[in-house]
Amino acid sequence: MRKQRKEKNLGVTPRSQDFSKWYLDVIDAAELADYGPVRGTMIIRPYGYAIWEFIQSWLDAKFKETGHSNMYFPQLIPYSFIEKEASHVEGFSPELALVTVGGGKELEESLVLRPTSETIVNHMFAQWIQSYRDLPLLVNQWANVTRWEMRTRPFVRTLEFLWQEGHTAHCTPEEAEEEAMKMIHVYHSFAVEEAAMPVVVGRKSRAETFAGAVCTYTIEAMMGDRRALQAGTSHNLGQNFARAFGTQYTDEKGELQFVWQTSWGMSTRMVGGIIMTHGDDTGLLLPPRVAPIQVVVVPIWKKDEQKEGVMAAASRVVGALKSIGIRVKLDATEQKTPGWKFNFWEMKGVPIRIEIGPRDVAESVVVVARRDMPGKEGKEFGVPMEEGPLQEYVMKKLEEIQQSLLERATTFRESNILDVKSYEELKGAIAEGKWARGPWAGTDADEAQVKDETGATIRCFPFEQPPHSHVCLKTSKHASEVAIFAKSY
Ligand code: AMP
Repeated sequence: MRKQRKEKNLGVTPRSQDFSKWYLDVIDAAELADYGPVRGTMIIRPYGYAIWEFIQSWLDAKFKETGHSNMYFPQLIPYSFIEKEASHVEGFSPELALVTVGGGKELEESLVLRPTSETIVNHMFAQWIQSYRDLPLLVNQWANVTRWEMRTRPFVRTLEFLWQEGHTAHCTPEEAEEEAMKMIHVYHSFAVEEAAMPVVVGRKSRAETFAGAVCTYTIEAMMGDRRALQAGTSHNLGQNFARAFGTQYTDEKGELQFVWQTSWGMSTRMVGGIIMTHGDDTGLLLPPRVAPIQVVVVPIWKKDEQKEGVMAAASRVVGALKSIGIRVKLDATEQKTPGWKFNFWEMKGVPIRIEIGPRDVAESVVVVARRDMPGKEGKEFGVPMEEGPLQEYVMKKLEEIQQSLLERATTFRESNILDVKSYEELKGAIAEGKWARGPWAGTDADEAQVKDETGATIRCFPFEQPPHSHVCLKTSKHASEVAIFAKSY
């Protein structure tokens, strides 16, 4: 099937027809990733990895700007570490991958392939932190983690994934809280500004809080099929790990205190989020800021004598755009027709295509086509080829596309969130495939019942709350907050 699609350029299953199949087709056809030989694992291919590299470089710069340093902890963690924090072991046990044999011998103690690193980080923090002068300690690591997930999907939920995990220790609970909030806002900025992905920022319910945390903050995005995606989380860990590992410092009065901690992570799931937020029936559609190729230049000629002039003009255009930092690709292969190339780069989600034919060369102009506006509507003829004006035009267009994608996704999301007052209304909204937002003061058991009966979970209590208080949609008790319910990935 895959070979056939490639050779005939058959494209992908339309998104409107079958979202899940479309998603897998896009990943395959756009060469973003492939399946690994072990169930639930994936190979991230160069085009997909390049998107991850943009995520990495933006976040990495932000982490450094906010005072964090990168470091690296080992992947193998003694099993006993995981057991030290009660809710952590309870939460992670079902997902652990264990190494029991090493060098052909049964190990005395099993080793865990890290599912996250709070335990080993605390083991080391407890040795490094002596006094208040050592705090705050602000580190981050870029790493792979392994979680034995039962239901998997490329990028969104894999057995092994790439992420960054920040780990910090502070003198006071206020500082830890401030840090956890600061980092969820870094994720928020990335999602909105770079990935053009509108997200709801909020607090997780108790049931959905990270195993071992006091409180989890999240950014929740609406995918094209209206399912929610948790795209990044930041945890206020309180003193839970500090107490389990004896991570203490001597305060200014000479008294021994436990540190207050945070941890926060964003993963390769974000790539899946970008695909499912913007992609359309044609395939991938990338926001310019994260697109590995922002502009593709397709030279077009029929007769041999036209080739030289067209190619020379195409090279000048490529040079002009490269020189101002635009990521541009020249597709000059002669084996494929221009029409084939148009389809191919559209499917790959490249935001702008520039076409240059003999007549354009004669008039010193180019044709510019926008990926986000198919057909004639997004095509502009007679754009000046001259270096300065062309550079300015393309920069402006890229920015316009970036903004327009964000607006489109925001409008889509807003039109798919329903405000509900009763459980009946909630059930109706979820049955329609929408998100339901309503007052909530239910227990963990109430929340579990909603999940059983509707398939929806509390995605978060959004930070942006209506000003007045309400009546809980399920228990009729006083509710001080509204929650968002949705089916999720
Ligand atoms: P956590 O530390 O469990 O809150 O995870 C941090 C972030 O990693 C989550 O918010 C998800 O976006 C992402 N994530 C969690 N599990 C997976 C997985 N199996 N595959 C890809 N990304 C994941």
